[in-house]
Amino acid sequence: MARGEAGAPERAAAAGGVGTKRPFVTKEQLEDIARSYPTPFYLYSERLIRERARALYDAFSWNEGFKEYFAVKATPNPRIVSILAEEGCGCDCATGTELLLADACGVSGHDVMLSSNDTPAEDYRLARDMGALVNFDSFDMLAFWRDNVGPFPETVCCRFNPGGEFESANGIIGSPKDSKFGMTREQVERAFEELAAQGVRHFGLHAFLASNTLGDDYYPRLAEQLFSLAAELSGRLGVHVAFCDLSGGVGVAYEPDQRPCDISAIGEGVREAFERILVPAGMGDLRVMSELGRWLLAPAGALVTRVIHEKRTYKDYLGVDACAANLLRPMMYGAYHHVTVMGREDEPAARTYNVTGGLCENGDQFAWDRALPECGVGDLLFVHDAGAHGHSMGFNYNGRLRSAELLLGEDGAVSLIRRAETPADYFATLDVTPEGRAILARL
Ligand SMILES: *Cc1c(COP(=O)(O)O)cnc(C)c1O
Repeated sequence: MARGEAGAPERAAAAGGVGTKRPFVTKEQLEDIARSYPTPFYLYSERLIRERARALYDAFSWNEGFKEYFAVKATPNPRIVSILAEEGCGCDCATGTELLLADACGVSGHDVMLSSNDTPAEDYRLARDMGALVNFDSFDMLAFWRDNVGPFPETVCCRFNPGGEFESANGIIGSPKDSKFGMTREQVERAFEELAAQGVRHFGLHAFLASNTLGDDYYPRLAEQLFSLAAELSGRLGVHVAFCDLSGGVGVAYEPDQRPCDISAIGEGVREAFERILVPAGMGDLRVMSELGRWLLAPAGALVTRVIHEKRTYKDYLGVDACAANLLRPMMYGAYHHVTVMGREDEPAARTYNVTGGLCENGDQFAWDRALPECGVGDLLFVHDAGAHGHSMGFNYNGRLRSAELLLGEDGAVSLIRRAETPADYFATLDVTPEGRAILARL
């Protein structure tokens, strides 16, 4: 422990990257925002969201039918889904509620993909009613659809799981053999055969084999597998494979010394596989699709929280007004989120702190032995790269309430795109006594 405390600032300095991750707002802007909207809150940058969506479409502009289906679970906010829709993105949904969110944003038909698993019949029926593309996770779900929903649509997608390990240039980055998702190679073939016999005319192939990848070869290597399977099945069964969906998994550099993915290099890598495998097979019309969540939104959002307590025991703690109920990733995965102490960006990271939330769980900390500038009560912390799988993984443990979400517009104006929860929201689903209701009425 003592070594950790002494070593952390040196490690940070040696990495050379600390301080290179800059917030997309200034301290003055944030203090100004915090006067209207109390911390903690999420802040998203419209400029960054649009820039990233455009960079993605640029990278795949060689593919005429390319489309990104934003994984709405990453940031299920109608304003954000609508901004992405303006940039040409559809919605990748996993549940009926997410389908409703897409619908509420005016995204429907083939602009919606239901990539679900263990799916209840009502979610499938909603997808059918919306005319959404459906991605079947399991062979047995075909019979389930027939029995509970009806005839198949003209276009159907199947999720492929090749088993084994997934290797990139950086070694093994995923273990499909241990993943619950998708169908085996044989099951995909049988599914295509049966579906074709039942009138399905266009097919899609989908796979998600590694998460938060930083090597630019993840998508290209995945594309190679999907394109080869598409060419093989099309040749063998005479079916029309209309698209391959590379799904999510392109990662972000959470740590300042990590190299961010180069989306244009990724697009070029996929193009190379496309021209090598699909074009000679006469399948140059195949559409490439993606379902990115993290890559698109994580760097475009931050959790903003204020230090409300300091504590010194065997470590130095900064107690903040957010907790794991607002951002679960550090507690759940030990995930690193870079923290900037606003206004101290250029001060040396001379101290070592644990940054902690207030849940009755020791794991509720945002950073352990983190080298930060000297700071304390009143300082605003900008927790980077929280724009995806951040607010959406929130929960109400310990009676903690979900925070507001704010959008920093391209014009610099800030808008409230989700209000903070109140105690009344917390009690809304509970059956309370008349006395309890009287108390709640005063809230
Ligand atoms: C979670 C998920 C995504 C998005 O993954 P990211 O790592 O956020 O890009 C896409 N597709 C499916 C089916 C998912 O479950």
